[in-house]
Amino acid sequence: MTESSVTAECRHCGESLSPQHTGPCPACGQTGKHVNVSVNEKIIISERISRTKTSRREQISKKPSSIIIAVILFLVEIIIGFLDQLLYFVIAIILSINGVACTPINEKKIIEREEHFSN
Ligand SMILES: [Zn+2]
Repeated sequence: MTESSVTAECRHCGESLSPQHTGPCPACGQTGKHVNVSVNEKIIISERISRTKTSRREQISKKPSSIIIAVILFLVEIIIGFLDQLLYFVIAIILSINGVACTPINEKKIIEREEHFSN
């Protein structure tokens, strides 16, 4: 809403006059007056703020894909972490199998060397 106020005063003595007053000043008898007009357009600023907030909400509501992308990235991160642990697990199993498989061979070599020294 527009708030406006119109005030008038005598140019010579400063006596407050009606904005519609014509003729000589009732206080000093001189003619001439100052008319002050003030207009406040406060609602224009508040409308612009509310429009900006609405447009941001519309932007967020129009982009649900960003939430979906965030969820997908979260799930991918979990899967990568799981695969990483699985890889370490598989490597540990391979190494342990390899160690078990090598143990009898090493024992045979040790036994062969002991037999060689004994002869
Ligand atoms: Zn006057």
